[in-house]
Amino acid sequence: MRAVSVHRDAIVVTSLLWQTTATAIRCGDEAMLVDSPYFPEELELLPTLLAQAGFAPTALLATHADFDHLLGRLAFPELSLGVGEETALRLGSEPGAAQGELREADGEHYVERPRPLGLGQVQALPVPGHLGLGDRELELHPAEGHTSDGTAVLARWCGVLVCGDYLSNVEIPMISRGGSLEAYSATLARLAPLVEAAETAVPGHGAPQGRDGALRILAEDLAYLDALERGEERPPLPEGRDSARQRRVHDENLARL
Ligand SMILES: [Zn+2]
Repeated sequence: MRAVSVHRDAIVVTSLLWQTTATAIRCGDEAMLVDSPYFPEELELLPTLLAQAGFAPTALLATHADFDHLLGRLAFPELSLGVGEETALRLGSEPGAAQGELREADGEHYVERPRPLGLGQVQALPVPGHLGLGDRELELHPAEGHTSDGTAVLARWCGVLVCGDYLSNVEIPMISRGGSLEAYSATLARLAPLVEAAETAVPGHGAPQGRDGALRILAEDLAYLDALERGEERPPLPEGRDSARQRRVHDENLARL
């Protein structure tokens, strides 16, 4: 697990699995933890690591309902988890799905956990909307297309945009179950001005990007979506993302269209 400070009030922790990110944003005595690392050791260490950096989460947020972003309560079981309305709907319509997928991934990687995942009472938040943190507000913006749900979180005062599974330097756009190419393109269009307004964009998987890097990835992703829409079987993939694994993601995207 890597931790990098992207602002005096924001720290990004990156899991060893899938480079999944968790971002803590602080204002005064309050701090929000967005998304989560994966491995039990990482989750166990997280409260100490954040406390040493001066972050004591008072609430949890998840960008979307994919299981790898929902594990915050394994690190902070006493905190409640807030999600966008669409994510709450998805969690409600497929009870136990996240737990099942987590068990499957754990089985795949021979991972044992001290206790099962309990999401507790999930708080549904209006998106677009605002969420108070100390005397500031986090902006919640819709970000669907990867899946049927999704929220991008902008902490405008510290210039940090946490966007969920978009703008990744390690993954091409992934149209998962419930997602769509049209919604994905619309989300990229919506993210563009948010990236412009930010200093740092934190993807759900990969490294935090400066504004220029994030805008470059956004342009590459739009070009990729065009190629996907044309049904190209072997489009050029962006530099750094042209791997066998990302080729498989492309094949899955094609199959889903
Ligand atoms: Zn993800």
